[in-house]
Order: sequence, then C-alpha cells, then structure tokens
Amino acid sequence: MEDVLTALENQQWRLARTPTGALPVADDFVWHETRMPEVQEGQVLGRTLYLSMDPYQWVRRRSGTEQPGEICHGRTVSQVVASRHREFAEGDYLFNTHGWQSHGLTGAGISNFGYMHPRKLDPQLAPLSTAIGIMGMLGLTAYAGLIVQCQPRPGETVVVSAASGGVGQVVGQLAKLRGCRVVGIAGPEEKCAFVREELGFTACVSHRDPDLPRALANACPDGCDIYFENVGGKVFEAVLPLLNKKARISLCGLISQYGNTDKSDPRIAWRARGERTFAARQVEAHDLFVGNYVDTYQQPFLEEMGAYVREQKVSYREHFWPGLAQAPQAFAAMLSGDNFGKTIVTLA
Ligand code: NDP
Repeated sequence: MEDVLTALENQQWRLARTPTGALPVADDFVWHETRMPEVQEGQVLGRTLYLSMDPYQWVRRRSGTEQPGEICHGRTVSQVVASRHREFAEGDYLFNTHGWQSHGLTGAGISNFGYMHPRKLDPQLAPLSTAIGIMGMLGLTAYAGLIVQCQPRPGETVVVSAASGGVGQVVGQLAKLRGCRVVGIAGPEEKCAFVREELGFTACVSHRDPDLPRALANACPDGCDIYFENVGGKVFEAVLPLLNKKARISLCGLISQYGNTDKSDPRIAWRARGERTFAARQVEAHDLFVGNYVDTYQQPFLEEMGAYVREQKVSYREHFWPGLAQAPQAFAAMLSGDNFGKTIVTLA
C-alpha cells in the first residue's frame, strides 16, 4: 500500500496571504500538490473523508495565527491508509486535524492544537460526519457553554443565536431535553421554520425582522434566563433588555463582528456594552473557549450525546460540499449565512 501512496499526490489548500476582507475571497487561498508525507514510527497516514468548516478558522487566518504558506487548519474525519501506530490499523476511521488536505498524518509529533484529541470512530455508533459536528467540537462547545457554564433548570427560557447552525442546533436541543423553553434566532424564514418544526424549539425569530427587539420580546414573555451568544451586534442589543435577574450568558462567539476592520477583540466591546445591565441584574457572563473543557468534559459529553444520537433524541442538519476544490467557497458560504446546518466538505 505504501508504494502506491508514495506515487500519489497530496492535495492541499494553503493560505496565500493574511486576508484583509470582511469575508474570504479566492485569492486568499492557493491550491498545492505535493508528495505524500512519509509515515514515521508512532504515526498514521489518513485519507481525509470529511473536513469541517468553522468560523474560528477565519479568526485564525485574519489575525495572523495561521501564516501564509501554511496548510489551512481544519478538523477532519479520515480513514487510515498506512499505519506505524500500535493503536490504529489500516482501515480504521479517525477524528483528527488534518487541515484542508486530502491526506494527513496523525500521531507522534503531530500537533492537534490542544483541542479534541484524535480518536478512533465506530461507524456503527454514529455516522462518521457527526465526529466534526454534533459529536465533535461543536457538540462539546454547546455542552460546555449551556450545561457546564449556564446550568439550565426546567422551565427556564433559553435564547440561542445562530440557532440553525452547528453549535446553535445542539444548544437548543440540549436545553429542550433539560425541560427549558427554547427561543432561537436565525436569519431566513426557512431556517427559522427548521428550528421550530424539525428541532422543536418553542419559537424562532429572524434577525432580519426590522423590529427584532419587539419580535424577540414577544417570543420571551417571561424574559431570558440563559443566553447562548454566537452572534453579537444587533442580536445582542435585542437580548439585553430581556435578561432576567441572575441570568447566565455563555459568550461563545460573535460571528457578526469577525469581519470588522478594527482587529481588537470583539469580546471587549461586547462586555463594555453589557456591563451596566450585567451589574444591575446580577447577570453572569462566561467566556467560552471549548479547548478548556476537553480534558474534563469530552468523555461525559460523548457518552451523553452518543446516547441521544443512538436513541434519535436529537436531530442535526449538515450542509455537504463535495470535493476539496470547493473548500474556499464552502468556507465563505458558511461565514455569510449561505449554509444550512453544519458545513462539511466531503472528500470521499
Ligand atoms: P454556524 O453553522 O452557526 O454558521 C454561522 C452562522 O452564523 C450562519 O449560518 C448565519 O446564520 C450566522 N451569521 C453569520 N453572520 C451573521 C450576522 N452578521 N448576524 C447574524 N447571524 C450571522 O457556525 P458554528 O455553529 O460553527 O459557530 C457558531 C458560533 O460559535 C460562532 O460564533 C463561532 O465562532 C462560535 N464557536 C465558538 C467556540 C468556542 O470555543 N467559544 C467553538 C466553536 C464555535 P443565519 O443565516 O441564521 O444568520
């Protein structure tokens, strides 16, 4: 097998330059073909099957954390094609972090950026793609922010923005399973209908509504006990007046601010805007960085979510883009809302 592999080219997207636009454009990326990497002792070579498109990748690229010339970072599901690792055999399926490339190495000396650890996947337990969605970092993000930080109680009202997206869908369903009243906020009516009808949220309002504050207030007659923040900007403005005394917030993301020309951390402005309300109403606002929850919570999360997936107590929607060549378009679509559900590039 290894002889065949060394004859193959590894296809990659690399960062061409540090992007300056509000959204990614084709010139930010460059296609690269190179020889297969050699598998060292303690490593496996995997063929990428699924590649995750996530907003944080944009933050890395715009901030210079990812440097021009580097393979674009991204979490993946892969199948082992050559192994020199005692725990992983040829044919095994793995969750790992290959980035935007057709093949990649996992194991000794390969960084996974301190997030979810590489692990073997059982395709009988859950569809493989869920390892980068509901059963992966997105699911863990929802679990950490909602369950660990905000500790929902039955009957409370939970509001979640970007409700139809990868993280938002999981937050709302976990809250519903804990007996909460769940109100989503999404863009187009098609997404709002999905959130209400397929995910079973109590209500979903559109952030495109010219009177969003009124629409949201109508959907939250008892105010908001927990806000799961994915968006910021005018959506946060609409939530602020509804926060109840001792409300909890998980500050997960601020996607409406990721294209700002001002490159300061948008969390600082967000906190400054909320400060008076938080103090007056004893609101707890928690910063969320999923990487901090991996060591303690990955296992309990996988057990709880694995049971929900097997028992079909949760639904999830994925938006597949076929072919590595489409990764830049898929990425831009995800950031601009032209996605519907968790955005995944398929290579199989
Ligand atoms: P999604 O699948 O939710 O895709 C992004 C969605 O954001 C779009 O579909 C769009 O939905 C919405 N959106 C984009 N721009 C705007 C805008 N200007 N105003 C309102 N809505 C907008 O992405 P993810 O689930 O992967 O990520 C959701 C959030 O979670 C992000 O903020 C991300 O940074 C954060 N995150 C944070 C982590 C952490 O550790 N703190 C880890 C993982 C994710 P619509 O069409 O409905 O507007």
